[in-house]
Order: sequence, then structure tokens, then C-alpha cells
Amino acid sequence: MPRTAPPSAAPPAAAAVKPLSAPQKALRKLGLVRPIDLALHLPLRYEDETRLTHLAQAREGEVVQIEGTVTACEVALRPKRQLLVTLDDGSAICTLRFFSFYPSHQKALSVGARIRARGELRGGLWGWSMVHPSFRSAQGELPDALTPVYPSSAGLPQAYLRRAVLAGLQRADLSDTIPPEALQACPGLCSRGGGRPWSLREALHFLHQPTPDVPLAALEDRSHPAWQRLKAEELLAQQLSQHLARRERSTLSAPALCAQPGGLHEQLLAALPFVLTAAQRRVADEIARDLARTVPMHRLLQGDVGSGKTVVAALAAAVAIDAGWQCALMAPTEILAEQHFGKLVGWLTPLLAPRGKTVAWLTGGQTKKARAAMLHAIASGEAALVVGTHAVIQEQVRFHRLALALIDEQHRFGVAQRLALRAKMQDAGWEPHLLMMSATPIPRTLAMSYYADLDVSTIDELPPGRTPIVTKLLADSRRDELIARLRAQVAQGRQVYWVCPLIEESEALDLRNATATHAELSAALQGLCHADGSPARVGLLHSRMPAADKKAVMAQFASGAMAVLVSTTVIEVGVDVPTASVMVIEHAERFGLSQLHQLRGRVGRGTAASVCVLLYAPNEQGRLSDSARDRLRAMVETNDGFEIARRDLDIRGPGEFLGARQSGAPLLRFADLATDTHLLEWARAWAPRLLDQSPELAHKHMDRWLGGKSDYLKA
Ligand code: ADP
Ligand code: MG
Repeated sequence: MPRTAPPSAAPPAAAAVKPLSAPQKALRKLGLVRPIDLALHLPLRYEDETRLTHLAQAREGEVVQIEGTVTACEVALRPKRQLLVTLDDGSAICTLRFFSFYPSHQKALSVGARIRARGELRGGLWGWSMVHPSFRSAQGELPDALTPVYPSSAGLPQAYLRRAVLAGLQRADLSDTIPPEALQACPGLCSRGGGRPWSLREALHFLHQPTPDVPLAALEDRSHPAWQRLKAEELLAQQLSQHLARRERSTLSAPALCAQPGGLHEQLLAALPFVLTAAQRRVADEIARDLARTVPMHRLLQGDVGSGKTVVAALAAAVAIDAGWQCALMAPTEILAEQHFGKLVGWLTPLLAPRGKTVAWLTGGQTKKARAAMLHAIASGEAALVVGTHAVIQEQVRFHRLALALIDEQHRFGVAQRLALRAKMQDAGWEPHLLMMSATPIPRTLAMSYYADLDVSTIDELPPGRTPIVTKLLADSRRDELIARLRAQVAQGRQVYWVCPLIEESEALDLRNATATHAELSAALQGLCHADGSPARVGLLHSRMPAADKKAVMAQFASGAMAVLVSTTVIEVGVDVPTASVMVIEHAERFGLSQLHQLRGRVGRGTAASVCVLLYAPNEQGRLSDSARDRLRAMVETNDGFEIARRDLDIRGPGEFLGARQSGAPLLRFADLATDTHLLEWARAWAPRLLDQSPELAHKHMDRWLGGKSDYLKA
């Protein structure tokens, strides 16, 4: 770990007396504190103010800088209040229009002033004009470098930021932290004369003040070698810190857990109503190998919805329990904990009983008494399995001997919560093994970058006998038609999920509420009977219902006694009712892609052919947004979770993907995983070598790029 102060360290005593100005505060908020932070704050784009264009030679639509004398300055009221300034550059006249302006504008642009204005030239009946050009008084020489435009925030003018960045650039230590042999091996850095790679100092000076002869395109698409150098630096910092986290973890100890012949693990396998798929066997072996070591496991188990992650988790739990340890299972919500782990608990409970062991549930809604009993069973070690929500990591929970923690839907948990879970054991002098599960497969580039400190096991095969789900798009205007068809489907004994986005009428969003839909479907299915003569029932499930009611509704649906389940997105993850074969998602255009895929994964779990209907409601102009269209199209085109994840990454970028991990974790600012894979591969290959060969430089590099932020990567 870099042991230097984080970037927000207190300023020296003298500075503390003086309150920060608004722009200083804004700088701090952007994390621009140390000179190096400023030096690494790179332009978004550039403006060319090095040249003047004569209006007589200009072309319509060009962005140009002109210089001239103001010959008129007046406020017009029609067709809209605006400031109209006439500028004469000696070759022609141009009207500058400002729709928002202050008295200071009028003063600076008063008749007789010589100014430079920069903007897009428009032609027209009345000659040239520019709308809201940038302008300044025409004093001094033209700049000889392109003018950088920096990412900024409210209260931080570009001019102030430019000065601050240049000052940072002068003061920061810019010495290279990447050894020459590593740079030589990096693709794309060596276009400079003689094949010498760009140094950090050269690259930074160049990017902050590029000369006007540089093709703007190479700067703006960031393919220029100076940009490549910066991106390589950034990716290397990320890889170094993750390698370091991995190394530090490898110095900690965890209990070695081995499956015993004839033990719980084998008993569980024998009791299962199915045989494992090859993919399940493979990942179960990977996990078993980790558990048998004294280095704490730090593994992500990923697999598409329905791929059968739960049984793999149960096998790991069996090994830990068999060895006399405790296992904790966490899911983000109560209903998910129940739905997802219900099966696992059902498998293990009968096997635990003969050993005098129990299962403890910890949930928010428990009575004090029930909770106290659970806490006691956990502390005494009688509870071999502890299942619940965040309640599992609360202060009062004391484990007897926790050896394995399983976290479902890991992206929904915050870093702090994962750290707290691990801390549960550290006072005992060991770390728990950690297995995180996710139904949102992480695209390869993300796994290589943000998740480089995790080992990943992938279930890439669905259990046999599943028929692929057919996905259909349907405009909301054809809702009645859909309901009529559902009636026929239900009459044939099919079970239907109907997912609504909101439970209360919200005028602003105009979403249909689940309660109204429930009433509507109940009416539509009136008089319909199942084969056994019992009436086809429509149930309602939403997040504000008491836990016991939710449970009762789910139980009825799971038993087949209920034909249609109208629900808000509480069913998103973890619900397992293999007989359900129709999924209707209302306002599908409002859901994220991975959420849609998760919801769709609730059907297609049994042998019946399943359908997923995506009802969408275009806006008043009859249109869907581009990204909504992309999401719906992706759903129709593929059922493959990896392909969905890849497209989701394209549509939303990595920030959303990383979920809770993103908060506080430094996202890549410059590198783009879609285009910079070559640099990522390079950083991945060199990070461990640099940590071995030049640890001091490696630490300096991390400190420069990550400051105090690298702690987050360890969770
Ligand atoms: P997920 O990966 O989404 O958590 P689950 O673990 O809930 O998937 O499994 C989905 C369904 O498939 C469950 O009903 C489970 O019992 C069943 N299942 C799991 N593995 C197999 C298998 N090898 N053969 C048949 N069914 C299986
Ligand atoms: Mg699951």
C-alpha cells in the first residue's frame, strides 16, 4: 500500500487560517489538490485560438476566431430580448448575438472596443452572425498553443482552472516511474523520432499545450502517442494496486477446508434431485481447491440466470460445515435471501439435524426474542449456517467459528459491507474465505481491469432440458390483445409473471400501477378455471407488503395454486418457480438491460417452452429513446447473458456495471476498455514484474495516480 497522505490531507497551518475561495473549493471537490492531481487533469478538447480568420475568406459553418472593432451595441427586444453587437474586421461585418447577457457584457462590447470573438459562423440574409461566441479584448499576441478546455464544475471558470493546471504542471514531480524496458514493450508509445517513447513530462506538457500543427483528430480521439502514454500509466496504476491487494491477501491466513469422503458434501450430492452439469462440476472443483488452502479465497462465481449457482454455493457450505466451521450467506434483500437460499437451506437442513446443527436466519423484521435466540445459536456455534440480509454483519452478531462467507448478487453490496463481513473474523486472527455470486457476467475487459484482484469461476452452461425463451416486443397499445391471449394460456395451465415498474400512480411518470393491473387482470380472468376445476387466481406482490404476506403469495404461486403473479420488481432476482413460463414486463423501455435479462431469467426454468413479452410505451411523439431501442433490440436478439453484459457495457459504460464497487473506487478517467485493450494487456503483464523488480517506483506510481483511493480496491 502507498503509505502517503490521501489527497484531501489538511493544508499547512498557515493556509488553514485563510478560508478557501469558491474556485479553490471547487478544485478540491474535483479532487484536484496536489500539484500532480492538477497536472493529470487533462483537457476534454481544444480550441484553436492561435489564428485569426478574415470574414471575407470565411466559410459558413466554420468555427473561426475573428478580430475587429465594435461599431454598434444595442439591446433588441424582438423577436426575443437579445444583445446585438456589430463587429467590423475590415473585410466584412459580423453580428454577435447574446440571448443571455449582463451589464458587464455590454461594457466590454461597447462601441469602439477591439475584440476577438470565436464561434460558429452563420450566413444569412443580413450577413454573417455568431450566436453566443466566446470573446475577449484583442490585447496581446495570439497564443501559440491550442487552448485546452478542461472538465470543470460550477464555480470553476476555465481561465482559473487553466492557470491552476499550468501551475500544477510546473510544480509537480513528473519524473518517470515506468522503467524504459517496460515502455519499450508498450505498443503505440514510440512514434517519436528514433523510436524513443514519450516521457511522462513530455506527454503532459504536450497534452496541456499542444502546438497548432498537431492534427486535432488524433488529440480528440486520444490515439496520439502522448495520450497512449497517459492511458498506459493509468491502467498500470490500476493493475499495480490490484496485484498488491492480491499479494497482501495472500499473506493472511484462513482455515483450510477439505471435503471428507462420506461427508456432508457427498451426502448433499447424493440427495440432489439432479446431477451437476460439467460446468457446475468444474467451478465446484475450483472452489474446493481454494477452500483447501490456507490463503483466503477471494472468488467470484458468475453464471447466467438459472445456470445453477446455488447448488455450487451449497456444496462449498457443506465442506465448511463438515469441517466444523460456520458459513454465512448474505443476499441484498429479505425476500431474495429467502427465495434464493430457501432451496439451499432445504437441502442442507435434513443433513445438519443428525449432527445437532441448525440454520439461523437474521432479518430486519424479526422479533427481539427470535433474534436473540438466533444470535445465541450463532455465538455458540450451534447454527452452522447463518442466512440473512445486511443484518448478518451487524455489530451484535458474534460468530463462533466463521470460515466461509457467501454473498449473492455481490454488485448490490457496498464495499463497506463486504469489509465489515470480513472484519467479523479478523479479531480471531484469520480471514474468512469469500465467495461472491453474480448473475450479471462481467465482460472480459472489466474482469481484467476492475476485478483483476478477484479469481473468477464461470458457469457457462445451463442445466439440460431447458427450452430457450422466445422474446417478443409489443406496443402498449396492444395490451388488450395480450390479455386475451394470456387468458387462453392460463386456461392451458400456464403460469404467468406480470411485472410493473411502480406500485403507486405517479402522474409524472404515468406508469400503470401494479394494483390497477392486478384488478384489470383479475377481471379479465374471471370465471376461468384450472384443469382441476379450481378458479385461476391472480396474486399481487409488492415491496410495501408485510414480509409474511409476501411469503404467502410466493408460496401460492410456487405451488401452482395461483395462475398470475402481478408484481413490482421485487421478484427480480432469486425467485425460482420452474412451472412459470410466461413473463410480461410492462414499460420495458424503462428498465436497464441487465435488469430485463434478470427478469426474463425467471421463466424458462422448466421444460415448458417459455415466452417473455416486453410491453413498451413510446413517448408522445411515438418514439423510444435510442438507448431504450438498443436495450429492447438486444433482448430480442440474444438470450446469452455474456452478450447482454457486453452490450450493456457498450450502452452504459463501466460505471453502472461496477455497482457498489464504483463508489469511491477510482474509475478509469482516460483509458477506454473498448479501445485500449492492448494497453490493458500490457499493464497486466508488467504490473507483477514491476512490483518485483522496482517496488519503490511501483509504489510511487500508484501514489501519483491513486493517492489515497486504492484502499477501496481491496474489498
Ligand atoms: P442461479 O444461477 O440463477 O442462481 P439456481 O441456482 O437458482 O440458478 O438454479 C436454477 C434452477 O435450476 C433451480 O431450480 C435449480 O434447482 C436447478 N438446477 C441447478 N442445477 C441443475 C442441474 N445440474 N440439473 C437440473 N437442474 C438444476
Ligand atoms: Mg441465484
